[in-house]
Formats: sequence, C-alpha cells, structure tokens
Amino acid sequence: MSLPSTILGYPRIGRKRELKKAVESYWAGGIDADGLAAAEAELRRANLARLVELGLGADDSSLPENSSLYDQVLDVTHLLGAAPERFAGREGLDLYFALARGDSSVAPLEMTKWFDTNYHYLVPEIGPDTPISFANRDVVDRFTQAKGWGYTTRPVIVGPVTYLVLSKPAGENGSPLDRLDDVVAAYGELLTALAEAGAQWVQFDEPALVSDNLTVPRTEIAHLVEQVWTGLAARENRPNILLAAPYGDSSAVFPALVRTGVEAIGVDLDRGTLPTPESLANEGVSPSDLAGRTLVAGVVDGRNIWATDLSAAAEKLEAARGLGADVLVGTATSLQHVPHDTALETWDDPALNENLHAWLAFADQKVGEVVLLDRGIRTGLDSIRAELDANAAVLAQRAATEGVSVPAVRERVAALTGADRTRGDYAERRAAQAARLGLPDLPTTSIGSFPQTAEVRQARAAHARGDIDNAAYEARMKEEIERTIRLQEELDVDVLVHGEAERNDMVQYFAELFDGFAVTKHGWVQSYGSRCTRPSILWGDVAKSREMTVPWWSYAQSLTDRPVKGMLTGPVTIIAWSFVRRDIPLSEVADQIALALRDEVAALEEAGAAVIQVDEPALRELLPLDQSRHADYLAWSVGAFNAATAGVEPATQIHTHLCYSEFGQIIDAIAALDADVTSIEAARSRMEVLPDLKEHGFAQGVGPGVWDIHSPRVPSVEELTSLLELAVESVDPDLLWVNPDCGLKTRGYEETIASLTNLVAAAKAVRATI
Ligand code: GLN
Ligand code: ZN
Repeated sequence: MSLPSTILGYPRIGRKRELKKAVESYWAGGIDADGLAAAEAELRRANLARLVELGLGADDSSLPENSSLYDQVLDVTHLLGAAPERFAGREGLDLYFALARGDSSVAPLEMTKWFDTNYHYLVPEIGPDTPISFANRDVVDRFTQAKGWGYTTRPVIVGPVTYLVLSKPAGENGSPLDRLDDVVAAYGELLTALAEAGAQWVQFDEPALVSDNLTVPRTEIAHLVEQVWTGLAARENRPNILLAAPYGDSSAVFPALVRTGVEAIGVDLDRGTLPTPESLANEGVSPSDLAGRTLVAGVVDGRNIWATDLSAAAEKLEAARGLGADVLVGTATSLQHVPHDTALETWDDPALNENLHAWLAFADQKVGEVVLLDRGIRTGLDSIRAELDANAAVLAQRAATEGVSVPAVRERVAALTGADRTRGDYAERRAAQAARLGLPDLPTTSIGSFPQTAEVRQARAAHARGDIDNAAYEARMKEEIERTIRLQEELDVDVLVHGEAERNDMVQYFAELFDGFAVTKHGWVQSYGSRCTRPSILWGDVAKSREMTVPWWSYAQSLTDRPVKGMLTGPVTIIAWSFVRRDIPLSEVADQIALALRDEVAALEEAGAAVIQVDEPALRELLPLDQSRHADYLAWSVGAFNAATAGVEPATQIHTHLCYSEFGQIIDAIAALDADVTSIEAARSRMEVLPDLKEHGFAQGVGPGVWDIHSPRVPSVEELTSLLELAVESVDPDLLWVNPDCGLKTRGYEETIASLTNLVAAAKAVRATI
C-alpha cells in the first residue's frame, strides 16, 4: 500500500492547550491517571478528526500519530524502559513524569534544545548497565485505539541512531552508541508488534542526519543510520517504513537513506536541498534504485508560519521527480513547532487582520497546502491554477504593504559601523564598574523574572480584557515589583531585579512594544512538557517608538539603594523565539532589533541603571545545523548583540544570560559578546562548563547557575556550596557571580524563597573561605 501525501507530525498540545491542562491537573492531583488517559485520548481523537476534516485520509496512513504526554525523546526512553538507576522503584506514569520533572527525591533528566528549534527534549542517560528492551507498548496501544475509532494512523518515533546520539553517557565510561544493537533489537520488536496490530506504515525520524552540531560526526551518523535501517528494513513482518531526515539538508546523506531499502524517505526541502542525479550517480545510486519507492518531499515549512510560496513548492516537487522516486508532498518537519490554526486569531487592526490571515499558515493551513499541492501533482498543476495565482498575488501584496520596508530603519542599519559594535578595554570597564558598584566577591543576583503568581497573571488577563484600566494594572504591577524588591533585600541579594511581573513573556513583551511585530492570542506552541509559548510574528521592519522598560526599572530602583538590573531581551533571542519574516536576511532583521534595543539600553543608562542585562538564551539554538553556515551566523548574531550593547559608558555593567552550558562550538562567540558578566546554566552539569571557559582564556564575569530552576526541588546549602567550591577552582572569585540557572517565572514563591535563602547562605559561606 503506497503512502499518500502527508505531514510529518501535528501539534499535540491541543487547540485550547487541552494537553497542558490535563497534565498539569494530573500533577496537581485534580485528575487521576484514568482521567489523564481519557483527556489525552480525547485530544488525540479530536486531532485525528480534524486532520481528516482538513483533507488527509482516515485510513491510508497519512495521519501521523506523534502525540506525547511530555516529549518524544522521553517517549523512546519509556518505550525502551531505559530509566537511569536513580529512578528505581518507580513505574508507569510516576516514572515517566519523574524522568521529566524529578520528584522529591530524584533529579530529572537533563533538558536541552531539540536541534535548532525552541523545543526542548529530555536527554536520555545511557550506560553499559542501562536496561534496554521493548518495555512499553504505548505506541502500539495508541495505534490500536485509533484503529478502533476508525483511523489507520502512522506512528511517529524518533529513530534509534538519533536517540542514542542525543543521549549522554550514564556514568563514567562508554558511549551511548555502544548500546545501539540493544536499542535496534527493541525497535525490531516494536516493528513486529505494530505489524501485528495492523499498522501499514510507521515513521522514524532521524534528524541527527542533518546536524553537524552533535558529538558524533555526520558521516558516522549516516553510516550508522544506513547500517541500522538496512537491518531493520530486512526484517519480515513489519509495517512499511518512512524514514525521515527533517530539520535541514540531507542531500549529502541521501544515498545512505536510499541504500537502506526502506519504502519511503522524507526530506526537508524547505531548509535543505535534494542531491542532483549526478551526485547520486557518483555514489552509485541510480534512478532505478528509487523506482517504486516514495519520496516525501518536505516543501511545506514545518516551523515557520508564512503561507508557502506554492509555485516555488510545485517547482521543487517537479525537480524531485527527476530522481526516479514517486514524489509525494510533505512537510519539512513535524508541525509541532507551529500553532494550530490561524482561524483562532483576530487582530484588532482590521488591515493587519486581513493581511495576516492572508500571509500566514499555521498547522491547519499547512495541512491545506499539502492537500492542495497533492491535488496539483496528481491531477496536474492546471487543476490548482486559481489557487496558485491567488497565492502569488498575496505574496506580491505583502511585499508592497506599508511597514514591511521602512526607509529610515533600512538606512540606519546600513550606516552601522564597526565602532558602533565595540566597547572599550575590559580591564578599564572592570575597574570603573567595581568602583561604581562596590560589590562583594561572589555577588548574588538572579536572572530576571520572579514567580509569576496566579494573581499577576490574572491581573494581566483582566487588563487585556479591559476589566481593569491602565492605572489599576500599573498599580498592581508596582505592588508586585515592590514585593520583589523587598524580598530580595530581606534575602540580602546583592544585585536586584524588578522581577518582570509586567512581562507576559520575555520576547512577546518587546514584540508588543516594537514596531514590526504582531502577537497572537492562541498561537501556542510547545516549548517543553506542558510549557507553551506564543511566539510573536515579526512581519515588518523593527523600530522602537514607545516607552518600554524604563518606567518599571525606575520605579524598582527608587525603592532600594542596591543596584537593580535593567532587563532586556537580545536580538537573536527575539528572532529565535518569534516567527520571523523570511523575505530579508536574518542578519538584517537582527541589526534592526539591535538598534531598537540600543535605544532602550541608552534610555536605561540615562535613567541611571548601572547594570543592564541583555538576555541571549537562544544564541546557541539558532546555530545552523550545517557547519558551513556557522561562521556567518556567529558573525551577525554577535555583531547584533554588540550593536545593542556597545553604546554604554565603561562604568555601566552589561550582563548577558545564556540558558545552556554546552558552549563547544560557540565559545569564541560568547567571548566576543564582550559582556561584563555572563550567566549560564550549570547546575545540572555540575559546573562542567567552567574549566572549558578557563582553558579558553575567558576572563570576564561569569555566573554559573547553581540552582536548577527547571525543577521544583529546593537545593540545600551544602549542595550549593559544593557547586560554588567547584566553581572557584576555575573562576577568579572576583569574577564569579552566584545566581540561579534561569529566571524564576515558573517557580512558586515558597521554593523560590527557600532556594534563594540557601543560595545567599552558600555564597556567604564560600565568600568567607576566600
Ligand atoms: N530574564 C529572563 C527571566 O528571568 C531570562 C529567561 C531566560 O533566559 N529564558 O525570565
Ligand atoms: Zn535562562
């Protein structure tokens, strides 16, 4: 049975975030395991029904089954029963969620970004003794359940090579890949079980194939994928296999995919390209090797929200046919990175509303594009000519719309010089800042946000609805800021933050104030587990034309003698966590944002801020997967940060914050940001990053996070002290800052107070020893 046109995955959080609500209610004891299972099944069923309504077939395996209670990589860990030993004694959902979030006695798996997206997965820990078997039948049960509802789904599972390449070693020795045979054996059993359940097709994603940013070289990954999938494809009694290489360019590894003998290959033709017939021939692959096999050509972007250029997509499909395979329409990646449906949105400005509805395609619209293009390749492009013409007209209308290109913004970016991106000598800055701030060694601070309590969120929602006026809202936020400042003073923190109560989100907040952006009301995408974000839409040229952070900062600073940090989000992070226009280069978008931020930095400095933090937690996540594009990316991303921050006086201290600890390929770039203080994630990896930084000669301020804020666990003074003792082995105490891993927005006050109390105590204890 051949595979029809399809999408590689669908958003799983639910149109109304049903999954988030169910899972969080389960955690809070509101519903039990049966209640959660029922809610999850209902959502899954609703998604399948929706996809059929949009034009995918109910029983031809075009429906991807990529649902998950938390994360697709965690699901494989669960499938394999591959829990680290410290989780012993837990099972079922308790085990599943303990792996994800930890519990009172165990720390969770580490979390990190999924390729160059803003999705986070849970890093498996695989060692020589990790149990690995076909231990959990959820995938099969979901298939069977859907079958009962009348749908023949195509289960979507992260492939074994990608799974292990993304794992970290458990314990000291060995590589997770040493366990490849065991993992493959379990996948073999899974294939059999799916065949027995009646699955016609199953999809395995091996995105490791497209990334140079992993610990295993890409050639080795391609070799392993070929070996593993050749073996699995040779098994009897299995469903047909769609082997997908989403998230980037797979042209170099395409021959390896062909040689596996799987029935269908999925490629990303949005970010990636196809190999030429000549390059295939050089690798000994001829069109006849592809005859009768399916190429799912991912011409519809799975992770941005612009309507596809349908004519360009049709051309790509045509070119793909030249390879000899049966070409079908697909998405470049799963649609899990985009919101459900533009139909849920209404923008207040009628012109913008009309424009955005024409310009955008969320998941449901993308399904529509796939279905339309499928009709085009089956019945001839003439049969969809009217739609192609309408699409071309929309693209032309967009290019000509006011705000899409603003001459003043373009000219200012073009006039940027090297001097605009350069601060003075660090030693001088350090002395000037030390004199101005007078901080102790190991100064304590936090990353910016304080817990966003239900009351704060309710006040924001009430304000958005118009239930409370600006004055009432402002008063409410000021109360919160005052509480945050007083709390930090009581806790004896050295450099304070105002707590970001007024910010719904660190990117959206700026997007709402800058020109060139639109925000959504329902455009949620999963960030990790039950956490969702609503990326803003950057559709036009960016500039600052309104008051932003200064009034809040000034109010906070007026309450205390201690320095309060000004708090901004950097250009790369704004780009990474928004849906960004693709009609001009990202480097240009970054400089536009940088100049808007530069104006805000200047305003904060003018108002008296001695410390200004510009967060760039996404710097690494936007690093292109393709090595050949690294240098260019790092040059413009660092250049944009520099343009945003280099306008200040030497005595003004610039901080930045990065949400991760693997600096490997970007260590030079981090140094080139030239921040006076860089706070990073380090608690989960036990300060691993610091010796690297030292070796690299990084000698500016650094705040390795000692409290892992991604879990509700309160670290003890001893634990924090031991981390700081590790830190002073690599960092001059004069340059070492003490802070949590990240902002405290998602934490509760109780654990925040307990943890910060311990953090300050640990800082004082270590301070006393040096
Ligand atoms: N300043 C932000 C906060 O504390 C930083 C968050 C982040 O790095 N993701 O919330
Ligand atoms: Zn962070």
